[in-house]
Amino acid sequence: MERSFKKEVEALRLGAGEIFHGEGILAVTKALLQSGVSYVGGYQGAPVSHLVDVMVEAKDLLAELGVHVETCTNEAAAAAMLGASINYPLRGAVTWKSIVGTNVAADALSNLASPGVIGGTLIVLGEDYGEGASVVQERSHAFAMKSSMWLLDPRPNLPTIVHLAEKGFELSEASHAPVMLELRIRACHVTGRFEAKNNRRGFYSSLERIPEPARFDYARISHPPLMFAHERLKVEERLPAAQAFIAANGLNEILSGDCDEVGIIVLGGLANNVLRALARLRLADLFGHPRIPLYVLNVAYPLLPDELRRFCAGKRAVLIVEEGWPDYIEQAVTVELHRADLNTQVLGKGLLPRTGEYTSDLMLTGLASFLRETRPKGVDVDSVVSRAQELVAHRPDAAAAVANLPTRPPAFCTGCPERPVFAAIKIAERDIGRTHISADIGCHSFATMPPFNLGNSILGYGMSLASAAAVAPAFVKRPIAIMGDGGFWHNGLISGVASNLFNKGDGVLLIMQNGYTSATGQQFMPSSPVSRDGPASGMSIEKTLRVLGVNWLRTVRSYSVATMAATLKEAMRSPDSGLKVIIADGECQLVRQRRVRVEDARRLERRKRVVHTRFGVDDEICTGDHSCIRLSGCPSLTVKPSPDPLRADPVATVIPSCVGCGLCGEVAHAAVLCPSFYRAELVHNPNLWDRLRHGLGRAVIRVFGGRADRAPARAS
Ligand code: SF4
Ligand code: SF4
Repeated sequence: MERSFKKEVEALRLGAGEIFHGEGILAVTKALLQSGVSYVGGYQGAPVSHLVDVMVEAKDLLAELGVHVETCTNEAAAAAMLGASINYPLRGAVTWKSIVGTNVAADALSNLASPGVIGGTLIVLGEDYGEGASVVQERSHAFAMKSSMWLLDPRPNLPTIVHLAEKGFELSEASHAPVMLELRIRACHVTGRFEAKNNRRGFYSSLERIPEPARFDYARISHPPLMFAHERLKVEERLPAAQAFIAANGLNEILSGDCDEVGIIVLGGLANNVLRALARLRLADLFGHPRIPLYVLNVAYPLLPDELRRFCAGKRAVLIVEEGWPDYIEQAVTVELHRADLNTQVLGKGLLPRTGEYTSDLMLTGLASFLRETRPKGVDVDSVVSRAQELVAHRPDAAAAVANLPTRPPAFCTGCPERPVFAAIKIAERDIGRTHISADIGCHSFATMPPFNLGNSILGYGMSLASAAAVAPAFVKRPIAIMGDGGFWHNGLISGVASNLFNKGDGVLLIMQNGYTSATGQQFMPSSPVSRDGPASGMSIEKTLRVLGVNWLRTVRSYSVATMAATLKEAMRSPDSGLKVIIADGECQLVRQRRVRVEDARRLERRKRVVHTRFGVDDEICTGDHSCIRLSGCPSLTVKPSPDPLRADPVATVIPSCVGCGLCGEVAHAAVLCPSFYRAELVHNPNLWDRLRHGLGRAVIRVFGGRADRAPARAS
């Protein structure tokens, strides 16, 4: 796992009256335990991975509370877990990154929302929208509306987040509907404090088991003809019940202000941004008291028509602050005000952008535009507008000042085992030419960036092989689909491999077997070398493929560039029809380094021998054409000025962050590059043999007139 959560696990034990300090997503984790959950599940993905990671590490505490934790193989499995709450009074929570995870979970969610639940269910969504996001830019709002699930969007402060998480279970039980709690990236990582409560045991759990199965009730199945009744229940009973609960518990907030001719309606998750912008425009104090009234929708769906009308009554205009498209809130507010025959003007998109995150500059200029448009009494609009202009005036100069900085796209870690595979593809392309490459989600998607620029499409996690299904029969060469081991278990096994074999497809599948779902923080998966409880589960990709009927299967060490390039060429040229799978085997270097560094530090403490392998470039031989860099992209392989005054071009150099993965040597050999790379061993606490070898080496170098102080192999 990426990091240890020992401290956070202790915080989960806090009792009534004690103060919890920490991140938003960990506060949610504590709120789940305070709410008496019986089960928790999820699929990793930033920004909510920590919820499942902490739960996994807190197994002793969870055992005391009887909470079951499931590390699901995908989001659909996590959503299906919530089925436990359809028949039994079990509270459960699941989590994943949205929108992509919600897409995967959509079938189970629809079939959960249709019969509804008895036990409270909370779906914690890491809403990956806006700057810093890593997935397609869509919002989860549509899923809530289409399936009649309620969507909480709490103000990003810990007491509100925790309160809403706890109330979410009650809301779910009061209305018999699943509840979603969305947290944007910054809300997940916002730090703060709240007063803790005691943790609670679930009514039923692994400590207090359900004695009998539920009475058979066909109404709990989303089948005909009951789903027609479910649809009616959703609209005519659950929706009004939810609205009554939200109103009675005051889940939305109204922040009053003296300039109440106008108002702002804002989603809870964006309320702090609005308050901060108002403060910078001198229309709010630093404690969050605005001069313009705010209606904060901590519940994004459903809206409460009566509450909305009360807020808008007497106002000339309201501004809707809602990122992204469609403008769900703006449309809903417009309709409700029309129904209520209120002629409050509804403004939003147009003054604020229709797409993308509302950054601080956009918020400032959007609010200023709203005030310029509506000119409320008591506000010196001209000075607000000029203040907004002043606050953003430095931006063009700042942008111009950094315009010449090189962009820094995300890239593989130093020594990553996936980089050599793409170097091998580049080398193989010299013989077999370019072909269509279906890329996938995972670290290997960095190959779509320089220096590799490999990958024609990404269709979802584990979907690369499936996305090549229609390319293969129409393409002159075999397409290559690239998938990680995480993607293989998430979806690729069924959607890709089984489907290809079932349809007697052709093509090449390259599976990066690095042992973990690395991009999300090194969580374990079915074929990991260890599991969350210690021993490996024993599942293997290779065995699974053989059992399914894959006949052409090779496993190649990912750092063996020449062998990998040869195997790729063999797969592309093979006369055999059918799927050809190459497993590129190499442990995630980040995990390896975290393990090896600790082991090495312990050995050094005990004054034991430790060898670090490093690569280097001989300045005098390097031609400066940088082909090695174009085939590697390792951040530790860079350039420096040539020490030769007669050569203007910079030479390649390896900086000390090199972990000695060996790719430099492999690439130089496989691509027949200049012989400027050397491999050195840095020996700590050398033994007698090391010293003898070192002395002998220096002597030989001196005999041949070399400089022994520049000998690559040395002992320390
Ligand atoms: S996390 Fe692991 S697999 Fe991902 S880029 Fe880094 S070394 Fe490679
Ligand atoms: S050997 Fe080369 S590719 Fe490997 S870590 Fe060192 S510089 Fe990077």
